Amino acid sequence: MNDPDGGTAAMALGAAESGALDRDAADPGHRDRFLIPPARGGRYSDSAYLAGNSLGLQPVATRNRLLEDLGEWARLGVEGHHDALRPWLPYHALLTEPAARLVGALPRETVVMNSLTVNLHLLMVSFYRPRGTRTRILIEDTAFPSDSYAVRSQAVFHGLDPDSTVLRARSADEVRDVLAARGENIALVLLGGVNYLTGELLDISAITAAGHAAGAVVGWDLAHAAGNVPLRLHDWEVDFAAWCSYKYLNAGPGAVAGAFVHERHLGGAGPPRLEGWWSTEEQTRFEMAPVSRPPASADAWQVSNPPILAMSPVLTSLRLFDDIGMDVLRARGMRLSGYLYELLEGIGADVLTPADPPRRGSQVSIRVGTGAAALCSRLSGEFGVVADAREPDVLRMAPTALYSTHHDCWRAAAALAALLPEVS
Ligand SMILES: *Cc1c(COP(=O)(O)O)cnc(C)c1O
Repeated sequence: MNDPDGGTAAMALGAAESGALDRDAADPGHRDRFLIPPARGGRYSDSAYLAGNSLGLQPVATRNRLLEDLGEWARLGVEGHHDALRPWLPYHALLTEPAARLVGALPRETVVMNSLTVNLHLLMVSFYRPRGTRTRILIEDTAFPSDSYAVRSQAVFHGLDPDSTVLRARSADEVRDVLAARGENIALVLLGGVNYLTGELLDISAITAAGHAAGAVVGWDLAHAAGNVPLRLHDWEVDFAAWCSYKYLNAGPGAVAGAFVHERHLGGAGPPRLEGWWSTEEQTRFEMAPVSRPPASADAWQVSNPPILAMSPVLTSLRLFDDIGMDVLRARGMRLSGYLYELLEGIGADVLTPADPPRRGSQVSIRVGTGAAALCSRLSGEFGVVADAREPDVLRMAPTALYSTHHDCWRAAAALAALLPEVS
């Protein structure tokens, strides 16, 4: 049986477990506000959960708020729309301000709705408007597949050939090069703020400015950025953005997502949108008029009435972020990921994530021999370390600022010190 504490693993690691525990004593985080899954193997009872970039853990407070919302439905039926403890008609508005604070937006620029890829589509309907020779969409070559499929299908929707319409840049430098060389052909730049595979944090402000200088619209997928790094979407003049709430935001599998539309696109003769009854202003919604009166806010991008029971965990989560503050969390995320980075370099792992702390989110990815998924399941089964594999050869680990510990990082590195020599 592997014993990362006393065996060869710890020797290979060269960093004492007590060092990790000392760091945790000085820097405890907010683990007590989360439910940590039990370890499936190894000598510790809790798992070392480093997959919060894939699915964040459940806050302790989530269950009671959700039961409360369920209880109001039982107690009130349809009258809950107006009379519930948190009335359902304006429920989504409870999420607007904390979500806006999280991404550095004005409340009227922010709406919590739908799922991430659905939001990207609704926003691209408005902001991807190919004209003449300006038809191309620029994404990153390592885009998350959903984003890649979304932009390709948008091209097809406009009658364009997706292979020639979608340009793929292999690095942030290449994004700038393509903008400089082919800017007049680019209608839309859509990039991940933090790359899902490598954990690289892009300079959202500078790339947005470069895209604008080339005459393109610039949108951001913030799936791995929201709740991970501080954002200033309004000040950075981002045109639009979307993010999910089940990764760093801990609002549960498939949780309701967020969207941002910059103030300059709101109201008046803004871009066209797909509409439904939730796109019209709240005050006259129930006049049942045949023509909508959209508000001058991101709420105009809503289509359907929101899923209240699914929004309840998002509310719990956003209040946690409000309570603690994104800057405090970013500082802790940098301490944790910096520690993990050092340990992994120390065992000779092939680290993919940028070495410069401001250029990465709280994630460290390593390239392993082939069989990342098999390695990942051994990490969990034999050591209770939960990481995430991207086949064939990438292992991602995300110590999250709210609930991960230095000891979790130490456990991951110790387990890898034992397993990597076997698989490479
Ligand atoms: C997680 C993730 C998605 C997932 O999309 P859903 O619509 O939530 O299923 C899409 N894009 C990126 C960049 C992601 O990281």
